[in-house]
Amino acid sequence: MLTTTKRAQKKRSEMTFEKCVRCGSCMKICPIFDAMGEEQYSPRGKLYLLQVMDKVESDPELAKEFRRLLFQCAMCGRCTDVCSSDVDLLRIWHEQRARAIKDAPQEFAYLGALEKSLENVKNIYGLSPEDRAVYWLDELEQEIPNLRKRVFPEAKTADVVVFLGCLMSFRASQVDVLRALFKSLEILKVDYLVLGAEEFCCGHPLDLMGDEAGAKKLRTHNKRVIKQTGAKQLITCCPGCLSQLQNNYNFTGIEVLHHTQFFDRLLQSIEPYKQTEEFTYHDPCELHRICNVKTEPRSLLKKMGVQFRELELSCCGGGGLLRMTDPNLSDKIQQLRAAREKLSSTTVITACPACREQLLGNNLKTKDIIELLVTCLSEAKG
Ligand code: SF4
Ligand code: SF4
Repeated sequence: MLTTTKRAQKKRSEMTFEKCVRCGSCMKICPIFDAMGEEQYSPRGKLYLLQVMDKVESDPELAKEFRRLLFQCAMCGRCTDVCSSDVDLLRIWHEQRARAIKDAPQEFAYLGALEKSLENVKNIYGLSPEDRAVYWLDELEQEIPNLRKRVFPEAKTADVVVFLGCLMSFRASQVDVLRALFKSLEILKVDYLVLGAEEFCCGHPLDLMGDEAGAKKLRTHNKRVIKQTGAKQLITCCPGCLSQLQNNYNFTGIEVLHHTQFFDRLLQSIEPYKQTEEFTYHDPCELHRICNVKTEPRSLLKKMGVQFRELELSCCGGGGLLRMTDPNLSDKIQQLRAAREKLSSTTVITACPACREQLLGNNLKTKDIIELLVTCLSEAKG
């Protein structure tokens, strides 16, 4: 048992697990437990292990198992959302992950490689920082003639900065979303710029690993460059970037918005979308639960007159570094959901590049909301 002194020394968030009444509500909605079916994979099971940490720490094998389990989590936040005892599970997973990596770095060599890449080239792919605005610019500048002039340092100041994030900067699968985003901004005559090679990773992956010092270095650079542009608004399509930019950058005088928020505010009415296919809407976990952006994506779809079905099972299984730590489990979550929700017969609308990757990787059709919007805007323009 912990002594009173030791107990007093424990952090407040660690203590919140003691409020768990083992009701099991968090188990029912956890995608990991759903896929694995054993209590130790559930939030309640992991909390139980944490409660007996004294014993766990004295048993190296059990401690190792606990560290492995910590990274078998999509960090979707559903457990925190449903817990009526107010246990801040997401914060606990966050703190325990940082502790696990610190205690046993040799078990997380693959994360060490990611950390190195972020330290050396400032992106998650280990690619040259100069390439951040190369792939998509080569692909899109024929269609959007002024695009090169929108990229820093050719563009130095603008009302709006578009923060792309690593996924959208480097993945070919995101070019359709970028095309739609830039075309929409051009049609609406928004004064915007993109940071290009001066954009570093937002710091989200390091935050998920508990590397606060590494994340801070990336944030400091981005914040300085963004402030120099004189922008009043900062928009991003990536909910992971959004959560960082909103919660960890402490901007003053710069409003941080998801692209769905930006366009929903800008457009009171929109030309109706000529719908020929069946749609479902997938709520990205980080957008819905962590950034609290729930109404704007739906409002935009409503303004376009898009008919869609809501999904009951909302986690795609791609978050929380799970794609990296356990790709088979990550895919299993998506496949189970696809079968239950009959996703193969619909197009899944979403508003997150990571969810898009996860859906495409599992052979599902997907569109970002902006891809529908640009069709409406182009139609209205004639
Ligand atoms: S929902 Fe909260 S109280 Fe219930 S088992 Fe999960 S953590 Fe414990
Ligand atoms: S954050 Fe999501 S995946 Fe992780 S334990 Fe909670 S419900 Fe399960």
